[in-house]
Amino acid sequence: MNYKFLPQEDQDIFTAIKREEARQSEGMELIASENYVSAAVLEAMESVLNNKYSEGYPGHRYYGGQEFTDAVESIAIERAKRLFAAEHVNVQPLSGSPANAAVYFAFLKPGDKVLGLKLDHGGHLSHGHPVNFSGMLYDFVQYEVDPATGLIDMDRVREIALRERPKMIVAGFSAYSREIDWVRFKKIADEVGAFTFADIAHPAGLIAAGELSNPTPVFDVVSTTTHKTLRGPRGAMIMCKEKFAKEIDRAVFPGMQGGPHEHIIAAKAVAFGENLAPEFKEYARQVIKNAKTMAAEFLDAGFRVISGGTDNHLMVVDMTNKGLSGKEAEALLDKVGISVSRSTIPNDPNPPMNPSGVRFGTAAITTRGMKEEDVEKVVAWIEGAIEARADESRLDKIREEVKEFCLNFPIPGI
Ligand SMILES: *Cc1c(COP(=O)(O)O)cnc(C)c1O
Repeated sequence: MNYKFLPQEDQDIFTAIKREEARQSEGMELIASENYVSAAVLEAMESVLNNKYSEGYPGHRYYGGQEFTDAVESIAIERAKRLFAAEHVNVQPLSGSPANAAVYFAFLKPGDKVLGLKLDHGGHLSHGHPVNFSGMLYDFVQYEVDPATGLIDMDRVREIALRERPKMIVAGFSAYSREIDWVRFKKIADEVGAFTFADIAHPAGLIAAGELSNPTPVFDVVSTTTHKTLRGPRGAMIMCKEKFAKEIDRAVFPGMQGGPHEHIIAAKAVAFGENLAPEFKEYARQVIKNAKTMAAEFLDAGFRVISGGTDNHLMVVDMTNKGLSGKEAEALLDKVGISVSRSTIPNDPNPPMNPSGVRFGTAAITTRGMKEEDVEKVVAWIEGAIEARADESRLDKIREEVKEFCLNFPIPGI
């Protein structure tokens, strides 16, 4: 970005931003939840829409002067509806966790039973973790992945649902690399009279592009972040059947939130416009090709990939047979300029702060233009760093190679 005023007014913040730009340019981003937005999305976020209060919804606001905020928000809603074939969309949630809070608030009472995926099997904090509001307010019970295959065992899901009779079933994960059988989830929920809630925070962009199956026509309600594979500003949205529209809108405002962030909603609209273009379909295809290549390369190099591969943009790799923990692998790869996040593996013998696995994702490097042959190099560097982990000079050499390589792939907006 070209900063005109900030360097004159605030050197401290300007310097930190410039250093972060360099860090992003020189480093290899494999954190599965991250991506790079376009310069147009960045520009929408820095607009004067930031200055406007617009509590309420288009056509029904609590303050005057809403001609243009109404236009912006209506465009965002219309584009999101087209992307996901949604009957109703609320684009105001500030992020994924607040969106999920609003969904629970709309459908449940405190103490109600909810069935979700176990956290160390790939679920999210907001799906019932005891330290999160969701685990404190609602009675979460859990299904698991099959330890042998790494896949969700749908027969077990049904068994647990019949036994527990939850009021809601949550499907959608932070660290699950496989297609999800939405229709089967819906059938099970119908059998026990539960609401169906899909949290597609991670694969939303791949779903919007038509590369993975879409829960929106099947489920009662769907939430997603807008900043992961959807490649928009940090934020979220909720989609639902028309019959739940009032409850969802009321749960977001005035239930959970005050004034919406219209500059972010404008950036969501711009990103959705990009998501609708044919180039984004190409992008989503390449993300998956890159992930499949990465998983195959890891398997070739003797790593254990949970579920044996991937259908989406991410994978979890068990580091145990390489003689280091997920946390050690994260720190080691950081040394060579490769960012990853440690991750639990199903039935992890180690605690969540020091789990056995690492999660890798290809959404960000694909935005930079990396293809299958580049991914092969990336895995070779990861393998090399793990082999050379006691050899500082070899690690330095890998770091230089990674940096030089990354600088060939510019980041939008820098
Ligand atoms: C990332 C994520 C969220 C939370 O998003 P934030 O914007 O970080 O609050 C919610 N659910 C799932 C499944 C996620 O992966």
